[in-house]
Amino acid sequence: MSWENNVRKVVPYTPGEQPKLDNIIKLNTNENPYPPAPGVQEILDNFDIAMMRKYPDPNAQILVDAIAKTYAVKPSQVFVGVGSDDVIAMAFMTFFNGDKPILFPDVTYSFYDVWADVYRIPYNQLPLTEDFRIDPKDYARENGGIIFPNPNAPTGVLESLETVEEILKANPDSIVIVDEAYIDFGGVSALPLLEKYENLLVVQTYSKSRSMAGMRIGFAIGSEKLIKFMNDVKFSVNSYTMNQITLLCGAKALEDDRYFRETTGKIAATREDAKKRLTELGFTFPDSYSNFIFAKHKTADAGVIFEKLKERRIFVRYWNKPRISQYLRITVGTPEEMEQLYTALTDILKEVGA
Ligand SMILES: *Cc1c(COP(=O)(O)O)cnc(C)c1O
Repeated sequence: MSWENNVRKVVPYTPGEQPKLDNIIKLNTNENPYPPAPGVQEILDNFDIAMMRKYPDPNAQILVDAIAKTYAVKPSQVFVGVGSDDVIAMAFMTFFNGDKPILFPDVTYSFYDVWADVYRIPYNQLPLTEDFRIDPKDYARENGGIIFPNPNAPTGVLESLETVEEILKANPDSIVIVDEAYIDFGGVSALPLLEKYENLLVVQTYSKSRSMAGMRIGFAIGSEKLIKFMNDVKFSVNSYTMNQITLLCGAKALEDDRYFRETTGKIAATREDAKKRLTELGFTFPDSYSNFIFAKHKTADAGVIFEKLKERRIFVRYWNKPRISQYLRITVGTPEEMEQLYTALTDILKEVGA
């Protein structure tokens, strides 16, 4: 059929499984095991459905203002979207329009190459070092833009601000996007570098550290100039990306800093304990600063462990891809969930004679 010649054909991103089973332990999509800030419940309990008649505020002002206040920037430096996936897709569309390839690591968030393909942006995937680190010198070459997560996913490796700044220094003519989806679990944000670099865009999300993956809230902070360009594109595609309930819940969640510190702190503590327990079981992993651990067993096959965990209703993430096919990405759950994981792993390793 000739119309098929005009279809934009893409190989879509494959999200982690959302199994429709009860009694599972879900450690496969880096969701937060704790509920959102309690204030969010009050917003929902008091929401008047008459509000739904009207379009939401296209400027998402209540949420933009709350984010600006929390991160001590101007509201004109904040862009919000339907999860950081929406924010990053919008940034690709806005900023990556040259002929030169954009750059990102070979082992990284597997959405970047999908967006590049869908928007027809050329790209180069630069190999991380043997121990999954970014060598900033690799990024001192001609390019049409740069993006990397910090901490990286799925490795959990954190790069220093010096490394981030070295990449920025070498690239005054490119937009550099730092995807900080996991920064709240122990990393140092690149936000202070905004004072020096007009071409830096920092992206964060409510999905991991703020326990609101289902609500879909992401944001970017950058120079007023970059944010204006992004908003111009957004208002040219869909003015009403964020619904009114989400705007209210998102603003409310930021008020409770104590709860935020408590839950992210608990996850970091459980992660540190997991490093000891997994080591005792014979796993190695790059040191993680995120809410997951990217672990490899010294003898047992990752694909086999993955399947056997699944039989026991424990879901982790596994990619049969070059360089990482012997690794499992294990999200840090509650201490109770982690105990069940260690018990299952002990059994499985015995079973396979590891
Ligand atoms: C989870 C994740 C995102 C996107 O999350 P949203 O739910 O769309 O906010 C972006 N980047 C990385 C590296 C992630 O792991």
